[in-house]
Amino acid sequence: MIREKLKNSKRIVIKIGTSSLIYPNGNINLSSIDALAFVLADLSNQGKEILLVTSGAIGVGMNQLQLKTRPSTIPEQQAVASLGQATLMNIYSQRLASYGKLAGQVLLTRDVIEYPESRKNVTNTLEQLLQMKIIPIINENDTVSVDELDHLTKFGDNDQLSAIVAQLTHADLLVMLSDIDGFYSDNPNTNPEATLHHHISEITPEITQQAGGKGSQFGTGGMASKLKAAKRILDHDLAMVLANGKQPKIIFDIIEGAPIGTLFMKNN
Ligand code: ADP
Repeated sequence: MIREKLKNSKRIVIKIGTSSLIYPNGNINLSSIDALAFVLADLSNQGKEILLVTSGAIGVGMNQLQLKTRPSTIPEQQAVASLGQATLMNIYSQRLASYGKLAGQVLLTRDVIEYPESRKNVTNTLEQLLQMKIIPIINENDTVSVDELDHLTKFGDNDQLSAIVAQLTHADLLVMLSDIDGFYSDNPNTNPEATLHHHISEITPEITQQAGGKGSQFGTGGMASKLKAAKRILDHDLAMVLANGKQPKIIFDIIEGAPIGTLFMKNN
């Protein structure tokens, strides 16, 4: 069975979205962050190399400032992200410390990855962190890039960033945690007949057509963005599992090869 191959995953990138970190009422989901920190720490103790790509900076900042709606101007969004990023990082560091682990913050922009010299600096830092058993916690650097139209510095969203990090670090597996159980034949929130894809080996036009938009106010790019990330993973012969981030402990089962979520992996 193809899922058996996941058991050998040594280097794993985990991507978590805002909807898994913030409750719909805007408050921070501490139990989810704590459960995630436990999983990261335990996998690290097992000898695996773990990198986390996390969203949530603006959501956390909005909560701190008690903002009900996302600020409309880019400088305001950047300021809120700056505040929230520091707090989010602090929460991760604290929770990981309670499980005996250290965290390093890495903030990236697209241009940094595109220039060979700065890309080398990024990969060197990530490799060194892993060697030192420090868990890299990676996010887009919103101070430099927030504008959706800014293609020079902007990754697009953290779905793309996580696939790029997996590619740069030659990770064995990307676990993408969303607010849905995987990729369905249609948006299950609007079509109850939709069925879950257990394995996708190629992003065909038919598959692309099945992707709808984002699901929540915190969602980023919806399924189209996740498929774009999955295509990058398949193009580089890597593996990705898209699964529900409600219970981060499912990551243990995913790595054991359990049929959870949607596996994106070539057939060979
Ligand atoms: P996040 O960024 O938090 O992971 P998104 O909102 O970007 O979440 O994407 C997940 C949402 O995509 C789901 O909640 C669902 O409403 C929507 N969606 C659209 N098409 C599909 C599909 N074919 N399969 C699964 N979910 C889909």
